[in-house]
Amino acid sequence: MAVLTAFSGLGGKSPAAFLLQIAGRRILLDLGEGPTPGQRPDLTGIGRVDAIFLSHAHIDHVGAIDLWPDLGRPPVFASRATFDALPLLDLHLPPHAQHELPLQGPAALLDLPVSTGRNGHAAGGIWLHLQPEGGALYMGDWSRRSGLLPFDLPPPADLVITDLSYGDRDQTLVSQVLELAARITPGTVLPVPILGRGADMAQRLAALGLTPVLCPQIRAEMQGALPGLRCIATPAEARASDVIIAADTERPGDLVARLIDAPQSWRFIFTGHVAPGSTAAALIAAGRGSRQPRNVHPRARDQIWLAETTGARHLIPAFGALDAAPGLTRSLAAIWHSDRTCP
Ligand SMILES: [Zn+2]
Repeated sequence: MAVLTAFSGLGGKSPAAFLLQIAGRRILLDLGEGPTPGQRPDLTGIGRVDAIFLSHAHIDHVGAIDLWPDLGRPPVFASRATFDALPLLDLHLPPHAQHELPLQGPAALLDLPVSTGRNGHAAGGIWLHLQPEGGALYMGDWSRRSGLLPFDLPPPADLVITDLSYGDRDQTLVSQVLELAARITPGTVLPVPILGRGADMAQRLAALGLTPVLCPQIRAEMQGALPGLRCIATPAEARASDVIIAADTERPGDLVARLIDAPQSWRFIFTGHVAPGSTAAALIAAGRGSRQPRNVHPRARDQIWLAETTGARHLIPAFGALDAAPGLTRSLAAIWHSDRTCP
């Protein structure tokens, strides 16, 4: 059976970095940074890495890819969209290192037969299924119901790494969006990760009668939908009453950073994880920001579904705190595996 070692990504929201040993190969699954500022995986003792797989272009999954030279410059596997998004996050990989995987269907990773499917969480985001040794399935971040983004059914696997970001949370997206819309006032900014929830959020808010304004990145992610929505690239183009959906790259000088520093005191609603020490946490503490959850990760019932669908013998809960998931820990006790090394 395959062996998994979590260098980072277990026991809470932390950067993804898992080493999978399967069929004689050593594959690093994601190489993230954050979400707590400066939080990077400790790769001490990792040894040889034959390949790196990147699940999607969010910083907590790709943000430490600058360590690629230190790992012996192995081939990196991801979707085209994920590779193309790296420069938006100020991350760079030479073209010869980039080995493209399909969004769905059979493929090869080195000499291993694998398959991929869309993860329903980020445009270009994929899960990875490796066939040898009973099967290993890395879901990365995933969602069956986060809106516009499609989700493909994963195949059975003995070893499954899932996304416990929400613990036992089981709210519906529809109820969350209604709550979000009710809390939006003129002069609100909604920061969102690239390639994720932004386009779906714009569509749902527009359907509820709001007229969000988009940054160029989210406008591009809309792929031509709702062409009447205004687009702004700088704070100077914004009107005081605007409701702005803006891609947050967590890099200095991006539109979100400039709106925070703008003369108008914009109010911010954060719909994702708010890490201690982050800019979002500081804005909330200063009374300029608030939180309103909006699902982009699996709910509790989705974890049960994944366990049944894959027939997992070992289910590894990543990216979430176990004490926020007492219900799942109980329901899935027979296969739940939260130690650093599995099995
Ligand atoms: Zn993500």
